[in-house]
Order: sequence, then C-alpha cells, then structure tokens
Amino acid sequence: MAYVVTQLCVDVKHKDCLDECPVDAIYEGERTVYINPNECVECGTCEAVCPAGAIFHEDDLPADYIDYVDIARSFFAITGVSGGGAYAGPQGTDEPRVAALPLQM
Ligand code: SF4
Repeated sequence: MAYVVTQLCVDVKHKDCLDECPVDAIYEGERTVYINPNECVECGTCEAVCPAGAIFHEDDLPADYIDYVDIARSFFAITGVSGGGAYAGPQGTDEPRVAALPLQM
C-alpha cells in the first residue's frame, strides 16, 4: 500500500511534496511526479501539502483515478529508478498513459 499521485498533478506539478516526503519516495517525471510504492511509508504528509489535492491513499482513490496505482508501478518498472527522488533527479519522461494525455491545463 502507498499514497498515489493522480491526474490532478499532470501539467500542474507544484512539487511541494518533493521537499516534504521524509523518505524521499517521490520522483519527478516530465509532466507529473510519481510515488515509489516500494519506498512510501504511508505517512500522509504529501497528501496534506499538495495544493492541487492530487494525492490520495491507495485505499481512498476516486474511481476516475484508479489506474494511477498501476501507472506508478509501471513508471518505476520502466525507468528502474530508485534510491530517492532527490538523488535520482528529474527523469524527463512519463509513464506512457500519462505521456499520451492531452494537455491538462
Ligand atoms: S505518504 Fe509520506 S512517505 Fe509516502 S510519498 Fe507521501 S510523504 Fe512520502
């Protein structure tokens, strides 16, 4: 279980959460950020600080955003990135379903 960033972050990407995560589990993609489900300790800090209200616990995801659980897993499977979002830096890419979205703003 983990917290999940949803479509509400795509093309918005305030990134307030990146500095607040105590375990550096949030990674920057091109159009959104992704929480590594293997690193998140479910503290809820990111959900509280997100100005867009884009982050939910996996158990509380609105139905429209249920795919974002798999999108996060897929992003880390594709990129292979781990070890901390600040350490890894911006990835310059997105999970294919996010990359295919029309501009969200
Ligand atoms: S819930 Fe806590 S540990 Fe998980 S990504 Fe958000 S801030 Fe980081």
